[in-house]
Amino acid sequence: MQVEQTFVMVKPDGVRRGLIGPIISRFEQKGFELAAISLRTIDRQLAEQHYGELREKPFFGELVDYLTSGPVCAMIWRGRHAVENARAIIGRTNPVEAGPGTIRGDYGMDISGNIVHGSDSDASAAREIALFFNREAASPPVHLFGGTVVGQD
Ligand code: UDP
Repeated sequence: MQVEQTFVMVKPDGVRRGLIGPIISRFEQKGFELAAISLRTIDRQLAEQHYGELREKPFFGELVDYLTSGPVCAMIWRGRHAVENARAIIGRTNPVEAGPGTIRGDYGMDISGNIVHGSDSDASAAREIALFFNREAASPPVHLFGGTVVGQD
């Protein structure tokens, strides 16, 4: 059976506020296994590619500013129904609407700072993992544990 995995990213506001640890804990407590983790500041090109589907939205420029405003913590998490389970613990896009007990519901105040990203489908997860963890993107170094990652030797 194919390994089910998803791409999760603590956004710069989450990193600045010291929320990498609490967010990792939530994924571990849920039952996920951490497969890869990388802390780095991404450039505008990668941010624009990551959110390519939103290019026409009025908030796109601000979204790219936000995502490039400091280091992000990119992760691959493995587990059953990985995409759906991750979205469930992350909560709705707007922290105002995200329920208590979800990451965005507990830590966020406004849609312009919603702390964390999680892939919305298996296809998005594969695309985003390739974007952030392929060999070209691995400079500066990607830190891996748990073995092989898509795009790595
Ligand atoms: N976003 C925003 N304003 C909006 C909608 C979205 O700033 O009105 C940002 C927000 O950071 C969100 C990201 O764009 O997480 C991607 O939006 P999407 O609709 O894909 O939501 P997500 O999958 O992150 O819940």
